[in-house]
Amino acid sequence: MRTDGHRRSDNFEDRGSGAGGAVGAGLGAGVLFAIIRRIGIRGTLIAIVALAGIYFFNPFGIRDAVFGALFGGVPGQTQTTSTGEGGTVCDSSPGATQACDFSRVVLASTEDVWGAQFQQGRLPNYGAQAGNYQAPTLVVYAGGVQTEGCGGASSEVGPFYCPGDRKLYIDPSFYQVMETRLQAAGDFAQAYVVAHEVGHHVQNLIGATQMQVRGESANETSVRVELQADCFAGVWGHTAQASLQIDEADLREALNAAHQIGDDTLTQGRADESQFTHGSSAQRMRWFRRGFDSGDARQCDTFNVPGNQL
Ligand SMILES: [Zn+2]
Repeated sequence: MRTDGHRRSDNFEDRGSGAGGAVGAGLGAGVLFAIIRRIGIRGTLIAIVALAGIYFFNPFGIRDAVFGALFGGVPGQTQTTSTGEGGTVCDSSPGATQACDFSRVVLASTEDVWGAQFQQGRLPNYGAQAGNYQAPTLVVYAGGVQTEGCGGASSEVGPFYCPGDRKLYIDPSFYQVMETRLQAAGDFAQAYVVAHEVGHHVQNLIGATQMQVRGESANETSVRVELQADCFAGVWGHTAQASLQIDEADLREALNAAHQIGDDTLTQGRADESQFTHGSSAQRMRWFRRGFDSGDARQCDTFNVPGNQL
């Protein structure tokens, strides 16, 4: 894909926080592991669910971070970008600058794509009056961040979308985590992550986040939500194909990333399906592909598919 020379979105905030953010996040992680040691992983999970005022979406989720700790992931390996006193995240290193510019171009492209899709009404219908597309804001931060609608978060949780303030939060160092820890390299894999979070924003606008399938658990509903966000990311990829010169190799990068962050792959097969919150590798690849091949968000109606056919 090519992003040079393309419009960068101005719906963007750089939350360079100096050392405070990183220290805060490190503290947060330390506290989390202290709690896990004290009340066990199960108790911690229950506590997290009980504190479900925190309500945001991301490809990994808090629970995934905990699974990572439980199933031999690499906790504490989160890289933090030092921004220095009063510095910005994007100016902290050439890599960060590049990551910021790249993210802003992808975000701008999602604005064009979803602006048109909303105008044409090419969306699944969940009863909400979607109206015109209202673009979300992308916040970049380093280490830790205070959101306006979802409380505080550290980089450990990965990129996420907060419905309460309609913002996407990304620590650009996550792109390195993808490459090294998750073995999901490539610029289009990174674009997929941004587009997936934007997909959650689209869900927020069309009322998909209110959907509940009778008799299903919260985890099962979560899987439907996440697979739809993957499918929406695919719709964006399809529509942006010509302008960003997205090719076959790019598609392979996204599919590989979707595979690498499937619940079965992330937990190395040690979690059973009832614990899945984002879907298996096969499901995530399939739904991304469905959006990418069709370019039609109405094909992404994961709420009207029997659970065993997701
Ligand atoms: Zn998600």
